[in-house]
Amino acid sequence: MLRLENVSKNFGGLPALSEVTFTVPKGQLTALIGPNGAGKSTLINCMTGVIEPSSGQIFFQQQQIASLPAYKISRLGISRTFQNLKIFPRLTVLENILTGLTSEGGDSMLMAMLRLPYLRHRERSLKLRALEALDRFGLADKANWPAEVLAYGDKKRVELARATVGKPQLILLDEPVAGLNAEETATVAEQLRLLRSAGHTMLLVEHDMDLVMEIADQVVVLDSGKCIATGTPDEVRCNPLVLEAYLGR
Ligand code: ADP
Ligand code: MG
Repeated sequence: MLRLENVSKNFGGLPALSEVTFTVPKGQLTALIGPNGAGKSTLINCMTGVIEPSSGQIFFQQQQIASLPAYKISRLGISRTFQNLKIFPRLTVLENILTGLTSEGGDSMLMAMLRLPYLRHRERSLKLRALEALDRFGLADKANWPAEVLAYGDKKRVELARATVGKPQLILLDEPVAGLNAEETATVAEQLRLLRSAGHTMLLVEHDMDLVMEIADQVVVLDSGKCIATGTPDEVRCNPLVLEAYLGR
């Protein structure tokens, strides 16, 4: 589904990623782990066109995407959440979810103003899908709240609902349960399990090792911008390089 070849990124001469190479297989959940500052968010930013790699190639289903702008990559079917929340505070929760479906509602302003019956019908069906997504994350009762009044845990789940509502081909999740309480974490973990069993391809950045070990098909370990290990959760758990990255400092 996604292949990275020797992806490097420097910020002002300092390397944040050095020659990172790995693949994200279709239909699997790949966990991307590593200590703080390892380059995990930078890698997701490179995959989604938020920043451009300094060198290297990124292929999404054989197409090179490393220098495409973010909106084009999103249209190809890659969605994401952000480590630091990015939701629209003044829009309602439902409207925030609808922004995850914009590529499917792509009519011109004129078409929208004419409000043809079929358009009204489609608008209703998009709304229904957004409401279903909210329901899956236990947020249906807050659909009409302005997003800014939500508690942190609810905002995180709004992002996740938005990232998954459009049936993307690849979902990149940057620390989706960070800062959530145990109950909220359980809802999100359950949704991740459901997405995984429904055959979605996901890349999950996560620090909760119990969750990673339970849910991941493949684990990729970054340390100081370098990919130091890839393998099954069991292989990675016993890898001396990984133990050193986590414990040896
Ligand atoms: P992680 O997500 O694994 O914690 P990051 O990808 O956020 O790590 O950061 C990797 C390194 O790149 C860190 O040293 C960080 O300070 C640096 N970095 C990230 N983004 C920028 C930026 N926009 N400008 C300069 N340095 C950055
Ligand atoms: Mg990060």
